[in-house]
Amino acid sequence: MDVEDDLGPLIRALRQRLESLGRAGLDRIPRPPALADPPPRARSPRPAPMPLPEPAPVVLQASPTIPSPTPIPLAAVASLFEEPGLVEPPVPAGERAERLASLAAEVAACTLCPLLAPTRTQTVFGVGSPTARLMFIGEAPGADEDRTGIPFIGRAGMLLTDMITKGMGLARDDVYIANVLKSRPPNNRDPLPEEVGHCRPFLERQIAIIRPEFLCILGKVAASALLETALPMSRLRGKWHRYRGIPTVVTYHPAYLLRNPAGKKDAWEDLKMLMRAMGLLGPGKKEP
Ligand code: URA
Repeated sequence: MDVEDDLGPLIRALRQRLESLGRAGLDRIPRPPALADPPPRARSPRPAPMPLPEPAPVVLQASPTIPSPTPIPLAAVASLFEEPGLVEPPVPAGERAERLASLAAEVAACTLCPLLAPTRTQTVFGVGSPTARLMFIGEAPGADEDRTGIPFIGRAGMLLTDMITKGMGLARDDVYIANVLKSRPPNNRDPLPEEVGHCRPFLERQIAIIRPEFLCILGKVAASALLETALPMSRLRGKWHRYRGIPTVVTYHPAYLLRNPAGKKDAWEDLKMLMRAMGLLGPGKKEP
């Protein structure tokens, strides 16, 4: 058997991986550090890596039919070969609304949080397109959301709506909007760690059903909950992160922006970074 036969499956897998990264907007990869020095979770089931010559960076051609978004910097990619992406099988687009409705019913019946379940008017699950490319994730419902059952409907919600419509040129219905907590914390206090622990699996399932291409996390509380980080906003915003393989931006919570309008300039930069990656902003595209 010659070397070509031996390497056939590897070359095929590599080609498929490169094509999928190309569709995600990455245009080159460096030598993967995982091959030289695998992190502990990469070691066990894998055969010893075959010694490979130092590859030159691979340049991918953007497909002429797909708009070319700005590539997401590789710093956002933990390891190209070991990305802990979504493990759930994709839900067909036509089944997502029903799957979300059944998850919402499960959430509505949840009584795991002894301080939230008895005090909420109703749970606030999420709104928007079940096939959204972009999903916004806030912290928890406030009084208006608790009353209506719709996330981001109060003053902070109006600012978020402006950011989506006037800033990004999208409709609120084009995106999906949800919170980490589905119940309002009394007096809008910060969520307790155990409350985040109870609600996070619901959010994870919600994300897995929608499978957005991009996430935009609003504020430090939601970022800490989802990205499991204690970093301050100054270290989180303005750069790419990944949540289970999904390119993710963290920006200021609209409620913070209402109190600190000077932050709107930075928030706009974050949205533009997102828009460039989504192919909504760039050469030949007018800023909304
Ligand atoms: N703030 C949030 O984080 N979520 C809402 O739904 C409303 C305000």
